[in-house]
Amino acid sequence: MENDANTLPHGMNVVYLSIGSNMGNRLAMLQQAVDRIEALGRVVARSPVFETSAWGLEDQPNFLNAAICLHTKLAPLVLLQALQQIEKDLHRTREVHWGPRTIDIDILLYNTYVIETPTLTVPHRHMQDRRFVLVPLAAIAAGVIHPVLQQTVAQLLHTCADEQTVHYFADWQ
Ligand code: AMP
Repeated sequence: MENDANTLPHGMNVVYLSIGSNMGNRLAMLQQAVDRIEALGRVVARSPVFETSAWGLEDQPNFLNAAICLHTKLAPLVLLQALQQIEKDLHRTREVHWGPRTIDIDILLYNTYVIETPTLTVPHRHMQDRRFVLVPLAAIAAGVIHPVLQQTVAQLLHTCADEQTVHYFADWQ
């Protein structure tokens, strides 16, 4: 994996994203999201897809979640806008053609940046609290260090108090 910033082309950033879906054809939604995210740079790693019961509201369908590593030249807020556009587009497609589905895309880490703006907090504010984020992320970035907590993703997962079961669901086609 090309995670060493020194080997990256000039202006390229290493970003970890969390993607999730809990309605309709969840796997197809994740696949479509990744297809769209590929247009924003280069997807250099993707975790297997994991399944977990819905966080907070337990009467929702189970979530599928995955983590991906994206190399991109897009600045953080530009990337956020692009990801929100993808969410909107997939929701729109879904509402017109299929039954109800949903897709969520979060920025977990952006290089080692610490960002606090009204619309974007990086590292993601809740990533250390959620096994459905940490389990997929640990599959592709176990040794990556959280720049605020100064612990690796593997350490965060080890000490995470969340008790939800997150299990392997599928690999990508
Ligand atoms: P949610 O509905 O839970 O996906 O939250 C979306 C909102 O979170 C958006 O309004 C974003 O501006 C905000 N947000 C803050 N930090 C992040 C982040 N790291 N990744 C994605 N959205 C974020």
